[in-house]
Amino acid sequence: MKVPFFDYSRAYTDDRADIMRIIDTVAGRGGFILQKELEDFENNLAEFCGAERAIGVANATDGLELAWMTAGLKPGDEVICSAHTMLATASSIVVAGGIPVPVDIEQDGLINPDAVSDAINSRTRGIMPTQLNGRVCRMDKLMDIAKKNDLLVVEDCAQALGAKYDNKNAGTFGFASAISFYPAKVLGCLGDGGAIIVNEPELYQTLYELHDHGRGLDGKVKRWGRNSRLDNIQAAILDFRLKTYDTVIYRRRSIAGLYQSRLGEIEELQLPKGPSLTDVNFDIFQNYEILATRRDELKCYLRERGVGSLIQWGGEALSQIGELGMTAYLPATEDYFKRCLMLPMNCFLDDDNVHYVCDVISDFYRS
Ligand SMILES: *Cc1c(COP(=O)(O)O)cnc(C)c1O
Repeated sequence: MKVPFFDYSRAYTDDRADIMRIIDTVAGRGGFILQKELEDFENNLAEFCGAERAIGVANATDGLELAWMTAGLKPGDEVICSAHTMLATASSIVVAGGIPVPVDIEQDGLINPDAVSDAINSRTRGIMPTQLNGRVCRMDKLMDIAKKNDLLVVEDCAQALGAKYDNKNAGTFGFASAISFYPAKVLGCLGDGGAIIVNEPELYQTLYELHDHGRGLDGKVKRWGRNSRLDNIQAAILDFRLKTYDTVIYRRRSIAGLYQSRLGEIEELQLPKGPSLTDVNFDIFQNYEILATRRDELKCYLRERGVGSLIQWGGEALSQIGELGMTAYLPATEDYFKRCLMLPMNCFLDDDNVHYVCDVISDFYRS
């Protein structure tokens, strides 16, 4: 049996007939840029998240950049982020004129609120939690810290559409946040795409203008801006997929449950917390990231038996990248990145695929 980590072609072929119909309808009408399908999707997305507004953008990285650009960061201003996140989190701070300060993580790989507190100084202007692997950080603590220290919060929720903390959606805690529709994300499109979730109504106009050449909803220029629009065809496809998004989350959570039941007893592994309906976290399992003893050997063993796996961010935490001036020794991060590995987690897997992955892993630790 072959279980690829992610099968990109199926992101299209599984929905081929619907996608062709959507493209034909939208393109046949010439509806390419800033059309009704985009507006509908933005409204449905905001409603799904329980957010004020949403704005489609070209990708999540742009969304994060635009969010920080509204914050008026000054040279030397610091923004604290997690060491376990994509480079895009940090680069969005840099593009907006600030300095990213990566801090250490908790057992689950998410930013440690105590490490955030410890990193605060007179130059700190913001906190940027990453809602990693489809799980929300301890936002009660983080929002408390932000409030006490008068800090801005932008969430990187590229991986967390639909994840909740204490019944509140990822993306709705800070003043703004961004979601990614990269094809391998839980809600993926057929290329690049993203959205800004806007929680401060006064900021909506500004963010809207920034993403469309500084033009307002009336088409008049109000400021310098850029072009970071979400294509209308992509928006139409995303709107179609959003309708069944709950079943996608349900399936991912049941795969996580299956992994938990099959791998939970293996001492050499540390698994993500299993899906629970009573927990304060409601996870959507963008990724299934385990910590594994003899990780590199396990990865080879899986590959030789047809199972794809991936080490996130090419195996480097932000604090371990030599070239960009963020290097720091963060003990929990160092330990985590020696052992972390992502197993296949997506709706193309059937139960037999998951059982096969678990059989191979069980064999590896038995031998
Ligand atoms: C995917 C991802 C991004 C970037 O999203 P794009 O849409 O590709 O720009 C940013 N942060 C995290 C945590 C991600 O996983």
